[in-house]
Amino acid sequence: MAVINTMENVVDVALSELLRDETECCTCERCMNDMKCLALNALPPKYVSSERGELFSKINNTMAQQRSIDIRVACINAIEFVKGHPHHRMD
Ligand SMILES: [Zn+2]
Repeated sequence: MAVINTMENVVDVALSELLRDETECCTCERCMNDMKCLALNALPPKYVSSERGELFSKINNTMAQQRSIDIRVACINAIEFVKGHPHHRMD
């Protein structure tokens, strides 16, 4: 039995959609992880427990959530923050 936060998957998809139209923001692994953390910290987690077989249908069911305003706002804020404070430059 696996316990996963389906919000991670939803945020991944929402971020990659938003970044398709975003030319100024760095999308290196470090910055992508920073954006994902910022967005996830601003959103309530959505945990599901599931047998392996059910897992993907449960993830797909939550994909509709990516359209929610809250998720888009959290992702846009995360992108704007990382654009202004790219941590990779300090490595
Ligand atoms: Zn970067």
